[in-house]
Amino acid sequence: EQTLNQLASRDALTQCWNRRMIDELMSSSIAESNRKGTPLTLMVIDIDHFKNVNDTYGHASGDIALKHTVDILNQNLREYDQVGRYGGEEFVVLLPSTDKSSAWGIAERIRSSIQYSPAIISDAETIPLTVSIGLAEVRNGNETPLSLFERADKALYTAKQKGRNRVIFDD
Ligand code: C2E
Ligand code: C2E
Repeated sequence: EQTLNQLASRDALTQCWNRRMIDELMSSSIAESNRKGTPLTLMVIDIDHFKNVNDTYGHASGDIALKHTVDILNQNLREYDQVGRYGGEEFVVLLPSTDKSSAWGIAERIRSSIQYSPAIISDAETIPLTVSIGLAEVRNGNETPLSLFERADKALYTAKQKGRNRVIFDD
């Protein structure tokens, strides 16, 4: 049984945090990182050519692809890493106590897991998926959820431009 509070914080389709909740978690994690002097890295993940998935396989299959992506994220992350759905096919992961170079390894693990485990629609049909990932590490002082997100999202944009299915750091 889910409480009302959980329903208001979760994405209905995938059960990961919704945007409102992940924004709150970003805010409190940035504050904690500043207070303790620990690193914090944000990962922004976007499914490549997701529109083609919907167009080719239909929206019900598109939904399965989104749920599959969140399953892979959860299988590859620690309990305290926070996963949220930010938009249609865009997800964010907050990695507490994790610097950019550790985050790189985590992002690569996720990127390759998704590439090598297609979403299963039926016995006869699977959907191959790839993701592009942008990373940004909190800078001490005046970081906000928006400034952190924008840097990771810019790195994601670069990953898309360079040909997708890759991980890029914010510079
Ligand atoms: P590794 O897989 O090369 O990870 C290196 C470091 O990246 C880890 O150091 C940790 O700081 C960070 N890291 C990797 N994956 C994650 C993740 O999913 N979430 C977060 N928040 N951080 C992550 P650490 O903790 O000292 O671990 C050293 C090594 O121990 C890891 O090297 C890995 O080989 C192993 N290890 C630790 N915990 C686990 C685990 O839960 N499952 C597996 N399969 N291996 C683990
Ligand atoms: P968990 O910490 O919640 O991690 C869940 C899954 O995230 C792990 O499943 C693994 O696929 C991935 N993961 C997390 N951290 C790392 C990492 O540093 N490197 C790599 N390569 N993968 C990571 P897995 O391996 O089946 O582990 C299940 C649970 O067993 C973990 O849940 C954790 O509670 C425990 N565990 C496994 N290995 C270690 C370890 O080396 N040290 C500690 N302290 N716990 C471990």
